Amino acid sequence: MNIKTSQQLFDRAQQSIPGGVNSPVRAFKSVGGTPIFMQHAKGAYLYDVDGNEYIDYIASWGPMILGHAYDPVIKAIQDQAVYSTSYGAPTELEIKMAELIKSMAPNVDLIRMVSSGTEACMSAIRVARGYTKRNKIIKFEGCYHGHADSFLVKAGSGVATFNIQNVPGVTSGVSNDTLTCAYNDIVAVERLVAQYKNEIAAIIVEPVAGNMGCILPKLSFLGGLRKICDAENIVLIFDEVMTGFRLAPGGAQQKLGIDADLVTYGKVIGAGMPVGAFGGKKHIMEVVAPLGNVYQAGTLSGNPIAMIAGYTLLSILKKQPNLYTELEEKTIYLKNGLDEVLRASGTAYKINQLGSMISVHFSNHEVTDFASAAEANIDLFKKYFHAMLKRGIYLPPSAFESWFLNNALTKEDLDKTIKATAESLQEILK
Ligand SMILES: *Cc1c(COP(=O)(O)O)cnc(C)c1O
Repeated sequence: MNIKTSQQLFDRAQQSIPGGVNSPVRAFKSVGGTPIFMQHAKGAYLYDVDGNEYIDYIASWGPMILGHAYDPVIKAIQDQAVYSTSYGAPTELEIKMAELIKSMAPNVDLIRMVSSGTEACMSAIRVARGYTKRNKIIKFEGCYHGHADSFLVKAGSGVATFNIQNVPGVTSGVSNDTLTCAYNDIVAVERLVAQYKNEIAAIIVEPVAGNMGCILPKLSFLGGLRKICDAENIVLIFDEVMTGFRLAPGGAQQKLGIDADLVTYGKVIGAGMPVGAFGGKKHIMEVVAPLGNVYQAGTLSGNPIAMIAGYTLLSILKKQPNLYTELEEKTIYLKNGLDEVLRASGTAYKINQLGSMISVHFSNHEVTDFASAAEANIDLFKKYFHAMLKRGIYLPPSAFESWFLNNALTKEDLDKTIKATAESLQEILK
C-alpha cells in the first residue's frame, strides 16, 4: 500500500524520532491533534501528504519571505550544486555574502557565517563575554534566542508553549549567569545593571519580539537599552534572527532607527537553507578567532549551497525595497480585516503587528510582555487554530508564535483568511 497519511507518518515517526519531530513546536502538542506532514509547497501554499492545500502563515518560521520554491533561489541552488556541495575551504561567494549584508546593515563591519540562529546567538554572547571579560548576560522573559544553555531561562517559543520552567541538563552554573527582566521594562533593567555593576557582558533582545506572539517594543525601551549599554560598557545585541531582512533590508535596526553593537541573523538570511550569522562593530568582532582568541568555528559554515540561496534572496530584497512596502500593506489589510470580524464576534482580542509580523491574542489587555501574553485565552487560540486549519489556513500551532506573511500572498488569500476567521469564530464561540 502506497498511500501515506499524516497520521500514519506520525505514528511511524514516533518510533524513531523523539516525539516524531525534529523541532518541538512542529508536534502540535500544545494545540492537540496530529502534525501535518508536508509534501511540497509553492508560493503562498503548502500541500500535505493527505491531499490538502493550505494558505501558509508560517513561511518556514520566516525564511520564505517571497514565497516557497521561489524560482530565482531554486535555480541558483541547482546551478551551484554541480560544483560540489562543500569544500571546507574559502570561496568568493562568502565574501560577496558578507559584503551584501554589510551594505544592507551599515553598522555591521565584520560578519561571520554559521549554520543556525542558535549558533549565531550563542557565538555573539561568547564574543561579548570575551570582549568585556564579564560573565553575566541579561535577556528578557519570553524572548527566544535558540536552544544554547545560556538562553533556556524564561525563554519563549517552544519553551513557553510547553511551559517548561527549568530545562533539565542546563547546569545552575550556566543559568545563574543569565539574568532576566520583563520585556519593555527599562526600570527593571536599570535595577539589574546597578545590582550587578561591572558584571554584565551583554544585553540580548529581540528588537521586535516574535516568540511570545508578536510583541512591539516601546521605543523608549530600546532607546533606554542603548543608553544603559553605552554608559556601562555593556554590549547591546539585537537578535534579528526573525526581524533581520524581514522588517526592512536593514532589519529592525533600520526600521526602528536603533544601532546595536552586535547583531545576529538566521531564518530569512538562508532562504530556507540552514544559515545564521553574527556580526557587528569592528572593535568587538576583532576578538573572534583567528584574529583574536574567542574561538568559534564550523565545518559547514559558509556552505556554498546555503550561501547562494541566501545571497540570491537578499540581493532581490536589497534591489526591490518596494517588496517591504507591499508586504506591510498586505499585513495591514489582513489586520484590518481580522479586526473587523473579531470585533463583530464580541470576543476579547488584541492584534499586534509590525511590518509583516502579526499575531492575535485573545485578551482584553494590551499585550506588551510575556506575562500579558500568557494571560490571554490560550484555550480559545487552540480552537481557533484547528478551526482555521480545517478551512485551509495554516497558522503557527501556538499562541506564543508570530505569524509571518510572505509576498506571494494575494488579496484573495487574505480575504479567504478573514472570511475563515469569521466562520471559525462563529463555530467556536457558539
Ligand atoms: C528562531 C530563532 C532563533 C533560533 O534560530 P534557529 O535557527 O532555530 O537555531 C534565535 N532567535 C530568534 C529571535 C529566533 O526567532
